[in-house]
Amino acid sequence: MSSLFGLTADQLAMRETALDFAQARLAPNALRWDREKHFPLDVLREAAALGFAAINASEDHGGVGLARHDAVVIFEALATGCPTIAAYLSVHNMCVWMVDRFGSESQRREWTPRLATMQFLSSYCLTEAGSGSDAASLRTRAERRGADYVLHGEKQFISGAGAGGRDHLYLVMARTGGEGPRGVSAFLVEGGTAGLTLGAAERKMGWNAQPTHALSFADCRVPASNLLGREGEGFGIAMAGLDGGRLNIAACSLGGGQAALEKALAYMGERTAFGRRLDEFQALQFRLADMATELEAARALLWRAAAALDASASEATTLCAMAKRVATDAGFKVANEALQLHGGYGYLCDYGVEKIVRDLRVHQILEGANEIMRLIIARALLRNPGPDRRAGEDR
Ligand SMILES: Cc1cc2nc3c(=O)[nH]c(=O)nc-3n(C[C@H](O)[C@H](O)[C@H](O)COP(=O)(O)OP(=O)(O)OC[C@H]3O[C@@H](n4cnc5c(N)ncnc54)[C@H](O)[C@@H]3O)c2cc1C
Repeated sequence: MSSLFGLTADQLAMRETALDFAQARLAPNALRWDREKHFPLDVLREAAALGFAAINASEDHGGVGLARHDAVVIFEALATGCPTIAAYLSVHNMCVWMVDRFGSESQRREWTPRLATMQFLSSYCLTEAGSGSDAASLRTRAERRGADYVLHGEKQFISGAGAGGRDHLYLVMARTGGEGPRGVSAFLVEGGTAGLTLGAAERKMGWNAQPTHALSFADCRVPASNLLGREGEGFGIAMAGLDGGRLNIAACSLGGGQAALEKALAYMGERTAFGRRLDEFQALQFRLADMATELEAARALLWRAAAALDASASEATTLCAMAKRVATDAGFKVANEALQLHGGYGYLCDYGVEKIVRDLRVHQILEGANEIMRLIIARALLRNPGPDRRAGEDR
């Protein structure tokens, strides 16, 4: 990373720990995990032992209690070793934070410690086949029957699903009321619950080291005590999770882009053409300069958005959307440029750049596609079109 601006001594130390872990435990294995579609649970649990599984959860039940700004510094560093594994950790952290933030005292006591160690894995279950961007139109239903809720429906594209077997916690958004966001509630569903079935593993362009599955719920009965928050609050809980989730996914894009830039720099210092090293051509130097500048600009916005979320600023959601859009576009663009600068070798798997390109592509689509980020930003602008509309005017 190219700037220390704004980082405290503690943040620098965290970043060092995350970078060391990424270089020692993720980077050397990332290509093999991608090729073999291997989800490295043992290595994830090592990351959890360093505190990387419950970064923003409060300390009373085993979380680390760090700020959002700390988290984005950590996720960028982890993603330099493998964006896919860092991204799964980001999804898991989002789920842990949701349980810790919105759970009852007994839910937090029961779940946070086991999620913080990754004894239990977790998945965020919002998307359905018929509702992705328009998530509030979801159709999975949860009906109250005595002391239980009974779930019926299907979820699509669930990251990490199945990986924990019975030791897996699904945060499932399901409809308990009428149409629209206010009819949605959030539930904790354990792996192995009768009526919960895993679909086949999706074959994907990237993110091959973590599984993605559809889930179906048929007469899937959970105790009423597994309701997270109150009935009708589920959509708000899901969106609150995504504010932080988007920051962390954005950070993973920066880490991947940074790693690709560094690969390009190293390669261009060795490769010659027309009697000169590639890094001696000014046209290519300018490309490198633009790549570094785009990452740095995105990083500045990301840290700004994280600080706004830490301060519960009124414009935090808008800034998170801006940062997610800018950083995921920048990370992908830089990785793709790095591939081009490697020439034909960039297209070969062994050089590791094409994997970064494949992994980062999906960050522009998930946790709200970048078009939806524009929708969020535009709606905020149009709601408040006066002279004080600049993000940062937190009045
Ligand atoms: C690998 C992977 C992992 C995922 N993991 C998870 C997970 O763990 N949990 C989970 O719940 N979901 C997950 N998702 C789902 C992801 O969040 C959705 O794919 C995403 O929200 C887009 O929804 P969609 O695919 O239905 O596309 P659609 O909503 O059908 O959108 C199609 C296109 O239209 C655009 N579009 C839609 N509406 C508008 C509009 N109003 N204005 C302008 N453009 C619009 C979209 O931006 C997109 O480009 C994952 C997806 C993938 C690919």
